[in-house]
Amino acid sequence: MDLAERLRSNLSRVKSEIAEACLRAGRAPDSVRLVAVTKYVDSAVTSALLAAGATDLGENRPQALVEKAEALAHLNPRWHLIGHLQRNKIRKVLPHVHLLHAGDSWRLLEAVNVAAGELSRPVDVLLEVNVSGDTSKHGFHPQELTGLVPQLDNLGQVRVRGLMGMSGLESSPAEKQVEFARLRLLLERLQAEFPAARQWRELSMGMSDDFPAAIAEGSTMVRVGSALFAGI
Ligand SMILES: *Cc1c(COP(=O)(O)O)cnc(C)c1O
Repeated sequence: MDLAERLRSNLSRVKSEIAEACLRAGRAPDSVRLVAVTKYVDSAVTSALLAAGATDLGENRPQALVEKAEALAHLNPRWHLIGHLQRNKIRKVLPHVHLLHAGDSWRLLEAVNVAAGELSRPVDVLLEVNVSGDTSKHGFHPQELTGLVPQLDNLGQVRVRGLMGMSGLESSPAEKQVEFARLRLLLERLQAEFPAARQWRELSMGMSDDFPAAIAEGSTMVRVGSALFAGI
């Protein structure tokens, strides 16, 4: 198989696994968006993936996102920044970003608010929550959010759309399921408790090796990389 065929075949396999997981969970297949994580490949392969039908692309490093966004601007993909954002990179990356998945500290949210004001457009953000307790992971502690949500009214240019989380590196499949459920329950609790959170709809959770479990627990966005590039 050549590159284009391989990408089409991988993409269609991942899409049908998403559809099957939706079916098992009694959910509509279009209730889950695939964010194709392109951090393993260059702009040429990324471009071939867009030709194969991907629409939403994710990068975890701001610099790589900017470079690919500039190289592929004519193809107009939606870019998702899925990794930690340092405050000194905000201005450069923000103009390219459709959704910031890793809103992981108050200081970052404040700085994004200022930069969004300068761009004169609100920025869509997910709050990253550390649901596994891995000390290596960024993100808010679930309990911190109760105090944080009311403060978000002060950040007029930051539009929170939901939550993002990752399962623990060392977690078993059963533990991952519990971690995904924890994120969903947290979203439901915040929606019930805070008027400001009622419109939060997105749950970004699930990667190549665990997205069916994440979909079973309510994921609306899966961030899949290696499964799309198998055999390349
Ligand atoms: C790399 C990465 C992914 C994709 O992981 P795969 O296992 O390759 O699917 C998803 N989310 C984040 C935050 C990542 O850094």
